[in-house]
Parts: sequence; structure tokens; C-alpha cells
Amino acid sequence: MKTAFFSAKPYDKASFITANQTYHHDLTFLETRLTSKTTALAAGFPAVCVFINDELDAKTLHQLAENGTTTIALRCAGFNNVDLEVAKELGLKVVRVPAYSPYAVAEHAAGLVMMLNRKLYKAYNRVREDNFALNGLLGFDLHNKTVGIVGTGKIGECFARIMNGFGCKLLAYDIRENQALTEIGTQYVDLSDLLGNADVISLHCPLLPDTHHMINANSIAQLKPGAMLINTSRGGLIDTKAAINGLKSGQIGYLGIDVYEDEGSLFFQDLSDTIIQDDKFQLLQSFPNVVITAHQAFFTREALNNIANTTLMNISDIESSRDCKNQLQ
Ligand code: NAD
Repeated sequence: MKTAFFSAKPYDKASFITANQTYHHDLTFLETRLTSKTTALAAGFPAVCVFINDELDAKTLHQLAENGTTTIALRCAGFNNVDLEVAKELGLKVVRVPAYSPYAVAEHAAGLVMMLNRKLYKAYNRVREDNFALNGLLGFDLHNKTVGIVGTGKIGECFARIMNGFGCKLLAYDIRENQALTEIGTQYVDLSDLLGNADVISLHCPLLPDTHHMINANSIAQLKPGAMLINTSRGGLIDTKAAINGLKSGQIGYLGIDVYEDEGSLFFQDLSDTIIQDDKFQLLQSFPNVVITAHQAFFTREALNNIANTTLMNISDIESSRDCKNQLQ
């Protein structure tokens, strides 16, 4: 199918060109982000392929439909950037990649835990400057610490298994229990019990209207003082202003994030020659106990390969009017 591929990076191009040797779609790679201002680029393309920070709000969707687009192929799992109700009204088919490598994201979350705990980001720079002092690098044993996992689907389960390997006690909160976690000794509790008892909390639930800002001033007040908070899920789960206040008061002892609620205009590009205008982000960066990565948790060879193959297979299913198991609607 003729597909306009938005927000294309060199690594996307490489993985999709390789996978497309099997599927033979007509792909046009565009570096531009899809927003209501850039929909003209999709004119004449029955399919658009989009990523996390493309904006498929009502205005964009109406313009796409008017321009002849019928299929939206998300090359990611989350779909919080698509107004599904409007897409449905317009008869647009939306497909996604529900799972490509839960290991990639869970392993990155574990990396953030270790980075913050053992202050590896400071240690790396110190040793490079021939500073071999250990002052300020003191960490803690993860063994026997309590880890709280919010959202125990595919990624949360992988993360639980990794933390289980470290000898941690596991608490979990989800709207439905995952048997695999109870089998490794995880205790399901209320969110407030999890917040009050965990030394490390990792978020692995989707961003939905009812999870937006689930970590806010109220929930931060319930934390064990000095707890570590990790978010590799979606930025909107955390109220950044409240997190900044929690860091200032010491209620949050460590913050590791791969996602940020206003990341759309920042991440996936080199802005090193510009002045970042986002004051909240700049303030976050200034804390010595905050580590930020720019939405790279998914970024492994295996994940890119799976994303490309599943996305192209989804488009083939739609093109051939076959049932597509990854169709949202
Ligand atoms: P999943 O669907 O397998 O699991 C999500 C879990 O969250 C489910 O068990 C679900 O019941 C639970 N959940 C839903 N609503 C909840 C609520 N209100 N409170 C608590 N739990 C709730 O999804 P997954 O593959 O494990 O992915 C989890 C999230 O990770 C995705 O939604 C996506 O936002 C994020 N993600 C991030 C990256 C990255 O690169 N940083 C990559 C992939 C996915």
C-alpha cells in the first residue's frame, strides 16, 4: 500500500527497508512530524505510518480523511496520541504493534534503577576526569528492598522477573491481576499501599484518561520518603510540577524517566545547538538525583525488527481486507 511514513529517522528507514523486502509496500519516508499543520504531506496516501509523538487529534484526522487516507499504522504500542472516537466516526482503520519487545523496555527500566542507585552517571564522569574518590556515590543493596510495579502487563511482568532476580520483594497494582506475577511471590495491593511501602516504584500502565497524572501531589505525599520513581511508560502518568516539588522536599529520592509529558517538541531530535524553552524540563535536568533518557527504552535491534515486520504485516492485512489482529478499530 502507498504509505506516508512520518517522523522517519535513519534507523527506522533501515529496519523498514529491510523488512519491506517481504511485504513490498510503497513507502515514502518523511522526517516531518505529523500534526494538523503537516497533513498536506499525506495527500494521496491511503496509509500513514506514525510514531509516539505524531499528533492524531480530531483536526489532523479530519484532514487525513479528506485527503483520502483510510489507514493509520502506528509503529508503537501506545495509542494515546490518536483520537480513536473521531477516527471511528471517520471510518479510519487504526492498527498498532501491541508487543515488540517487552524485554527492551523492562531492561531499560532496570538500567535506570541501577544508574540512579549506584550513581553510575556520576561515576563515569568522575573516573574520566581522574577523580577516583567515592564520596557521594553511596548506593544501597537492591536485595530485600521492596519494588512496586504499577501495571503488570507484558512489560511490568518482565520488570518483575528482573527485580525478582535481584532478590527484591514485589508489590503490584493493576486493575487486573497477572497470575505469572503471583506465582513468583508478588503481592497485589491498593495503589496507596504500594506507594507507601515501596522503595522503588516503576510505572508500566498505559496513559489513559484515568491514569493521567496518577502520580500527583497527593500520591507523592503517600510515598515512603526518599523513594525511587521510574517511568518508562508515558510522560503524562506523572504531574511533572508535583514531581519537581517532591524532589525539592526529598519525598522523591530519585527520579528516572524515559518519557516526559511535554516530550513532543523535544525528544527524537538533536537540540544541542538551541536554547531549550521548556523551564520545567530544564529544572528537572538540574537535579543531581534525576536521570532522563529520551524515549529510548524500546530502542533495541530486536524491537526495531519486530516493529517493522508487524507494522508492514498490519498494512498488508488491511490492504487485503483480511482480519488484522492488531486493529484497534
Ligand atoms: P500491556 O497492555 O501488556 O500492560 C499494561 C497493563 O496496565 C495491563 O496489565 C493493564 O491492566 C494495566 N492497566 C490499565 N489501566 C490501568 C490502571 N488504571 N491502573 C493500573 N494498571 C492499569 O502493555 P505493555 O506492553 O506492558 O506496555 C505498557 C506501557 O509501556 C504502554 O502503554 C506504553 O505506554 C509503554 N511503552 C513505553 C515504551 C518506551 O520506549 N518507553 C515502549 C513500549 C511501551
